[in-house]
Amino acid sequence: MADIVSPARRSEMMSRIRGKGTKPELVVRSAAHRLGFRFRLHVRKLPGSPDLVFPGRKTALFVHGCFWHRHEGCPYCYVPKSNIQIWHEKFEKNVARDRSVQAGLEGMGWRVAIIWECETTDSDGLHKRLKEMLCPR
Ligand SMILES: [Zn+2]
Repeated sequence: MADIVSPARRSEMMSRIRGKGTKPELVVRSAAHRLGFRFRLHVRKLPGSPDLVFPGRKTALFVHGCFWHRHEGCPYCYVPKSNIQIWHEKFEKNVARDRSVQAGLEGMGWRVAIIWECETTDSDGLHKRLKEMLCPR
C-alpha cells in the first residue's frame, strides 16, 4: 500500500498523521465535546503532553496514529518495504516513549486512555468508547 503512493503524497500523509491538531484528534475532540465532557488540550506539564486531558476524571487521552504508534493488527500498522531496519528503530523508539509516558502518568495517579486513529472513523463506536473510558462503572 505504501509503495504505490508518490513521495509527495506520502510525506503529506505522514505529516498529517504526525502533527498535532490532526483530523483524528479533531474528531475525538468534537465527539468528547458533544458528549458534554470538559477537557483541556495538550497539557504540557503532564508527561507526553496528552492530546486531551479530563481533569475531573483524572484521565489523559491520546489520539494515536496507527502507523507511528504501531496499532497491532491494524492495516495502517504496516512496515514500508525499504529501509526496514531504520523503520523498526523508529517504531521501537516511539513505542518505548509511549510506554514510559504512560507509566509516568499512571505513577502520578492518572488514567491513560488511547484512541486509535482507525477508531475515529466510526462515530457511534467512538462515542461508546469515550463513554466507557470516561464513565467506568
Ligand atoms: Zn488502527
